[in-house]
Amino acid sequence: MAGITLKNVTKRWGNFVGVENFDLEIADREFLVLLGPSGCGKTTTMRMIAGLEDVSDGEIWIGDRMVNSLEPKDRDIAMVFQSYGLYPNMTVKENIRFPLKIRKVDPATHEERVARAVAMVELEDFVDRRPAALSGGQRQRVALARAIVREPTVFLMDEPLSNLDAKLRVSTRAQIKNLQHELKTTTIYVTHDQIEAMTLADRVVVMNKGVVQQVGTPKEIYSRPNNVFVAGFMGTPAMNLIDGEIADGVFAAHNIRVPGLSKQVNGKVTLGYRAEDASLSHGDAAGEITAPIYTFELLGDASMVAVKAGQSIAAVKTDKDYKAEIGEPVSISVPAGICHLFDAETGGRLD
Ligand code: ATP
Repeated sequence: MAGITLKNVTKRWGNFVGVENFDLEIADREFLVLLGPSGCGKTTTMRMIAGLEDVSDGEIWIGDRMVNSLEPKDRDIAMVFQSYGLYPNMTVKENIRFPLKIRKVDPATHEERVARAVAMVELEDFVDRRPAALSGGQRQRVALARAIVREPTVFLMDEPLSNLDAKLRVSTRAQIKNLQHELKTTTIYVTHDQIEAMTLADRVVVMNKGVVQQVGTPKEIYSRPNNVFVAGFMGTPAMNLIDGEIADGVFAAHNIRVPGLSKQVNGKVTLGYRAEDASLSHGDAAGEITAPIYTFELLGDASMVAVKAGQSIAAVKTDKDYKAEIGEPVSISVPAGICHLFDAETGGRLD
């Protein structure tokens, strides 16, 4: 078992910077999720930790070893990718045993270790099949078992669920969480899916354009995003973000006015609030938006009502039995207490 430390890790290809000054200590046994949009540098970071990509600047430590110049095979890491990477001509059991063979692990222990890994991912009934005769979810579990069987110091998982359908994603996600809890292996998991990040992570690293935007527990990132990018990326739906001006503690823009905000902040800002924190009102709330309904969606356990505020959409999550028509006037109560303020230019958090 070991923690991982990245000290100002940078990856450049010519003038292009793929990852810039990534600086983080990952605790032993931690489940860390790298989250961000396509191209933000998640996979590159992971590949540098695995040793599949050289580091341009900075240091990577696994436990008390600086691993920059260590071969991938000597880093004691097991990787799980979205493409399962199984050998088609081997059975499930042979696939899972393979890492033990190439690592010359004592053959007397193979049987027991493979059986244990197979049991953990509940593949007992499939051990003699070849990958072609398995479903996507079963193949993904074989890939997981093959990582588990090595009992590595670190798991690196790169979008391991992205080839699965929605239902399988949820169950396999739960299985991964459970396995990591049981094995207590330090895990770095890459995804662009913020629900995966929220549900799996001890801590999330949100990245954009090669730069870390925020590191924190899912709750911290959800409830206090550092900047507009994080606010807009984390949460379903994303935080409502409305550009306007604040003076003497009053935010004003288009059809929205919110008093009672910080008097320390003045000028152009972006005001954010989450749809589930707001409520419908009768046009008499201290801070509110009044406008015709732009969209109305039934979500099953709730309804989402949205209006336009300038170019932005301002939504409120409300009762599942709420009935309304598009175009009907509505008022959304947005009290100061649920609002987040960001700098209009830099996007940085102000409050
Ligand atoms: P995705 O979710 O799409 O996999 P990602 O966040 O994992 O994206 P990376 O694969 O890490 O992104 O890529 C980060 C950036 O580095 C991208 O802009 C990509 O085009 C660039 N990049 C990756 N590999 C190379 C390379 N070998 N040469 C030049 N640029 C590269």
